[in-house]
Amino acid sequence: MKAVILAVGEELVSGQTVDTNSPHLAAGLAPHGIRTVAHHTLPDERGAIARGIVEAAAEADVVLVTGGLGPTDDDLTRQALADAMGSELVLDEACLRELEAFFRRRGRDMPPANRVQAMVPAGAEPIRNELGTAPGIAAMVGRARVFVLPGVPAEMERMFAAGVEPLLPAGGGAIVHRVLHTFGVGESDLAPRIADLMAPRDANPLVGTTAKAGVVSVRISARGGDAPAAEGLADRTAAEVRRRLGEWVFGEGEATL
Ligand code: ATP
Ligand code: MG
Repeated sequence: MKAVILAVGEELVSGQTVDTNSPHLAAGLAPHGIRTVAHHTLPDERGAIARGIVEAAAEADVVLVTGGLGPTDDDLTRQALADAMGSELVLDEACLRELEAFFRRRGRDMPPANRVQAMVPAGAEPIRNELGTAPGIAAMVGRARVFVLPGVPAEMERMFAAGVEPLLPAGGGAIVHRVLHTFGVGESDLAPRIADLMAPRDANPLVGTTAKAGVVSVRISARGGDAPAAEGLADRTAAEVRRRLGEWVFGEGEATL
């Protein structure tokens, strides 16, 4: 199964904030056997977000969207999702009661602007937010499952674990990542020795190289029916890469030179 992740926010597109949500979600999907095939960063523009959702839903089984669920006029993700579904926003009474209770617990009246956060597209389901005000949204666009989560990283992480992971399609198996680090060899001298492992691009395991400050790393992503199967495949591939690259390999994972 494939996933596309969309991060929504003007501050992300302009480079003022680094998108940390997408890496967190891609890592969280891997144990479910769901391979992330693209991350896109989109501005707070209703048309751009709606197009992004439609295109992602055509490409992937699972689409995760973060950001733009706030109560202000520049938070347009829920309207964009409704557009992508060909649907209208409707008030979810249970959500409205939870929002009002959230403010009451803080001794405040709910500002009228927050009412929009209780709106979900007709045909979609709200996902509870235990930390903040904005509920998430679960919907279908075409054959893809779409989950919209808050932009605030702590709220996004909690909602992904509590409200999204239990709903992810089962039976996708597992994906395990491994990285071997080498020193003393250039990427173009190293790659031919493992070229057969690196092709084709949709192979399982997927093997690729990245170079950084004199260290060339070999990344292995293995898919399997379950975690032990994926780990077994990753182990065998890592052993083969080590055999071929010999003493150039100085470490794995978090190891540094
Ligand atoms: P929410 O849906 O929770 O209301 P929002 O996008 O409407 O989120 P913002 O005020 O835009 O609310 O963002 C809330 C905070 O989360 C900001 O500090 C923003 O920079 C941060 N944030 C949003 N998206 C991301 C992301 N992808 N990675 C890291 N931080 C993010
Ligand atoms: Mg935002």
